[in-house]
Amino acid sequence: MVVVVDSVKESETKFETSRIAGFDFGLKTFLTCSDGSKIESPQFLKQSLNAIKKASRNHSKKRKGSANRERARLNLVRKHEDVVNRRSDWFWKLAHELTNRFDVLCFETLNLKGMQRLWGRKISDLAFGEFVQILEWVATKKDKQVIFIDQWYPSSKTCSRCGHVLKELDLNTREWRCPSCQSVNGRDENAAKNICAVGASTESVGDVRQATPAIAV
Ligand SMILES: [Zn+2]
Repeated sequence: MVVVVDSVKESETKFETSRIAGFDFGLKTFLTCSDGSKIESPQFLKQSLNAIKKASRNHSKKRKGSANRERARLNLVRKHEDVVNRRSDWFWKLAHELTNRFDVLCFETLNLKGMQRLWGRKISDLAFGEFVQILEWVATKKDKQVIFIDQWYPSSKTCSRCGHVLKELDLNTREWRCPSCQSVNGRDENAAKNICAVGASTESVGDVRQATPAIAV
């Protein structure tokens, strides 16, 4: 699935430098914002996902063709719909909240396959792709702008203070000291700051709209 960012005329975007933010997607923390704030994945989502797992186990234990199995199947379907609906509600609320707070929102182009490799199956449960689509829809309605930067930009490995780029950064390293400027960078917040800076720079040179897909295929 490719979501191409439509061109938005510059004059339509209410652009103030103070209201531009970068965001980094994560597993435990759904989004880390360049201003240091965090949006945690909601607890209800975890609970509903556990309920699905339980319903799924229950279903597979029942004898094929039995009435019990059919009941268990319907129960599983209901649990699934429940997660999808609650998650979607949460996404809409979050999209509105973020577009109230910021005029320009910068993200890395989602590399869902890469995330899947790094993080495993859980990625599909978090449904980043769905959130991005909702956010883009809400942003367009409110004349706000969503910018996607190149997925290959080393947002985690670059020091947001001095620009030094590390050769390597282990996935488990949550915090690192820059060998060049000695500043201590929290992994996600540092990445979000870089994403913000790159987004802001593309904005100023006017080539924001290079039809970067929101989701890489
Ligand atoms: Zn540095």
